[in-house]
Amino acid sequence: MRIGIMGGTFDPIHYGHLNSAEEIAEIFKMDRVIFIPSFIPPHKKKEKITDVYHRLMMTMLATLSNPRFKVSTIEIERDGYSYTIDTINELRNSFKRSSAKNKFYFIVGVDAFKEIFTWKDSVRLLKNCDFIVTTRPSYKVDDLFNVLNDAAKKHRNVKFKIDRKNPFGKSPRLYIIGSKHFIYPVETTALDISSTDIRRRIKRGMTVKYLLPEFIEEYINKNRLYK
Ligand code: ATP
Ligand code: MG
Repeated sequence: MRIGIMGGTFDPIHYGHLNSAEEIAEIFKMDRVIFIPSFIPPHKKKEKITDVYHRLMMTMLATLSNPRFKVSTIEIERDGYSYTIDTINELRNSFKRSSAKNKFYFIVGVDAFKEIFTWKDSVRLLKNCDFIVTTRPSYKVDDLFNVLNDAAKKHRNVKFKIDRKNPFGKSPRLYIIGSKHFIYPVETTALDISSTDIRRRIKRGMTVKYLLPEFIEEYINKNRLYK
């Protein structure tokens, strides 16, 4: 099976997340995309985050009608900080029992991915799993390549290369020399929506219609979130 992993805080989930997951699933012919709400995102330690119960509920509701979309509570059950390396390892082990042939792709926005070297065991993670990095239409793969190589300078034996033969599209893919895994920059339809903006709009009593599914807005209102 080809499996996309979509990690996030989902506070709340919105059409930006849903659309990019759907477009990626189509391009990479994925059998499923697993949405994984993080329990405590390590990079948001200082921010106030909505109770995971609500974030999970909203993620469940928003993905319900898409047969390819699943939700996993793996990071919630693990407790503590939600590190991607732990999640990937755990997922790989749990899927191994059902069938041996699984391919995992971790989907992440380019802004988050640029910080990859601040993630736990980043080099091991990059060498262990394929990444799909969603970019804006104006984004140049060369920029990402330069940013990564710059950030990798503090790691010995980490050097990125460009592979122009990408089976999934015209854009080149990147890889660390010696690694069997790739980084696929993929242009998705740009929906300039963020959870931060949605929370801010709700707090100010502004409309959020058409930024997220209607029933998620209803869920937010019913539970008086973000007020
Ligand atoms: P916040 O504003 O609270 O940081 P967010 O909208 O960025 O929220 P996250 O839950 O932090 O959402 O993001 C989860 C994943 O979805 C990340 O990989 C992020 O890059 C990606 N993502 C967020 N917004 C969009 C969007 N509008 N289009 C495509 N991907 C997105
Ligand atoms: Mg974010």
